[in-house]
Amino acid sequence: MTDKPRLHVIQGTPAPETPVEQARARIRKMPKPATMIQCHRCGSREVMITKIGMLLKNGKATGGTPQVICASCHRGGQRVVLV
Ligand SMILES: [Zn+2]
Repeated sequence: MTDKPRLHVIQGTPAPETPVEQARARIRKMPKPATMIQCHRCGSREVMITKIGMLLKNGKATGGTPQVICASCHRGGQRVVLV
């Protein structure tokens, strides 16, 4: 273990203001188009949402980290995280 972190965040120089760079910045700001979630392992589009680390609060299950996993792979005993 090292005492000091070896990586630092620096204030880098911005990209040059060329038309190409302006177009890239504009495209980066655009919202991403909706795409259908598909399993990268089996190609299935059936998913399950699981929650990790939920808390029982006043008799109700709350919180937790949702995770989207492939339902088809899950049936075959595999846990494939999609999102
Ligand atoms: Zn799958």
